[in-house]
Amino acid sequence: MVDIPGLVNPAAVGAQSVRAVDPAVAGRRWLGVWFTCCNVYGRIPRNAEGTMYVGFCPRCGARVQALIGEGGTSRRFFRTE
Ligand SMILES: [Zn+2]
Repeated sequence: MVDIPGLVNPAAVGAQSVRAVDPAVAGRRWLGVWFTCCNVYGRIPRNAEGTMYVGFCPRCGARVQALIGEGGTSRRFFRTE
């Protein structure tokens, strides 16, 4: 497979998601994410409403999101699945 930076893989878009983030650790603007799809580390920003983190894999463009809410994980680092 040829890897072209910046080219979004349509099959991957919207395919990824991550779990909820506990509000206690959701105070920061960025959430660290390990993208298992491409084995790369990236950061995704918190949205304007402060309700979730949303971003994309830097290599394949797969979308990831992490809701902020009660019962979420207190981990500060995520892996996509
Ligand atoms: Zn990827």
